[in-house]
Amino acid sequence: MKFGTKAIHAGVHPDPTTGAIMTPIYQTSTYVQRSPGDHKGFEYSRTHNPTRTQLQDALAALDNGKHGLAFASGMAAIDCIVKLLQPGDEVISTNDLYGGSYRLFTKVYATYGIKFHFVPMHDMTAVEAAVTDKTKLIWVETPTNPLLNVIDIAAASAVAKKAGALLVVDNTFSTPYLQTPLELGADMVMYSLTKYMAGHSDTVMGAVVVNDDELHERLSFFQNACGGTPGPQDCFLVLRGLKTLHIRMQRHCENGRKVAEYLKAHPKVEKVFWPGFADHPNHDVAAKQMNDFGGMISFVLQGDRKEDAIAVLEKFQLFSLAESLGGVESLSGHPATMTHASIPAEARKAAGLSDSLIRLSVGIEDAEDLIEDLKQAIG
Ligand SMILES: *Cc1c(COP(=O)(O)O)cnc(C)c1O
Repeated sequence: MKFGTKAIHAGVHPDPTTGAIMTPIYQTSTYVQRSPGDHKGFEYSRTHNPTRTQLQDALAALDNGKHGLAFASGMAAIDCIVKLLQPGDEVISTNDLYGGSYRLFTKVYATYGIKFHFVPMHDMTAVEAAVTDKTKLIWVETPTNPLLNVIDIAAASAVAKKAGALLVVDNTFSTPYLQTPLELGADMVMYSLTKYMAGHSDTVMGAVVVNDDELHERLSFFQNACGGTPGPQDCFLVLRGLKTLHIRMQRHCENGRKVAEYLKAHPKVEKVFWPGFADHPNHDVAAKQMNDFGGMISFVLQGDRKEDAIAVLEKFQLFSLAESLGGVESLSGHPATMTHASIPAEARKAAGLSDSLIRLSVGIEDAEDLIEDLKQAIG
């Protein structure tokens, strides 16, 4: 089945009692048993809920994976994965990681005796150099946030296999429409469903998709034991969002290209970060592992002054200044003070994240209007 057909049909079935074509919101905490232990597969909604089951099946199908697991947020999904580790284990991750992941790793799990190495992962030799006999997890996010570096998933998988470590790909920026990491050798794909997957800026949720049965069993044990599960209404919203994922992503990519090209030609713009440009340092990897280049773009103004970037952000009319990304509406952000403020200034600088960098999540409006907005804001 092709992607668009799966986005609409995979994992979901008409409701057996009424024939309702849309998955009902099973707003219930518990399920009546005929006799002790004699039930219909549902006992308690932290463990299983029919709305969540259909979403998990749909998520697995879109990534060509076997099992999906949904969580109350992207962070709860990441938290569940890190719980696979033991004190003394080591993790290698990228040095321009999502700020919340960096915070969870360094402020929570580092205090439990897990060691994290942050390296520029678009250079695979840096990853290989960080491997030790304690490396248990390699954490890839690609394209990275907000510098849009692209990490070679197949190459990272080869390093992970050699090290005997598990490979996770945070696929939030790409979605399975643009890349399917399990098919490139990843053991787990992780999502903040809050972003492109739900797509309408109206819910916070996360997910993990895996192929391996034993890994699924361990993760679902933590999902239930720790309890970071989503409610059925949020699962419904994500299911509804997924039905248009392919159409939305197509438009995000088209608009992304137009906006990136406009910015690149603008005399007041010094640098544009977008993996679709042929001169992007990792363009070849992006072209190999992605179906298109997405709608996330970052840029720096001539002179690289923070106050100029803030003036542009204040003038935007359509690119609303807000945290988050991946919704139908265009958003703008200032990573140094917003999404990446939890990364210390020194570490931001080392990763090349300048204080004047502006990040855009290009929405699915008409591109002409978006370009008009950029024109009036940048001048
Ligand atoms: C937003 C985001 C997360 C965290 O997800 P939440 O749903 O906000 O908890 C993780 N990774 C990336 C790349 C993100 O953009």
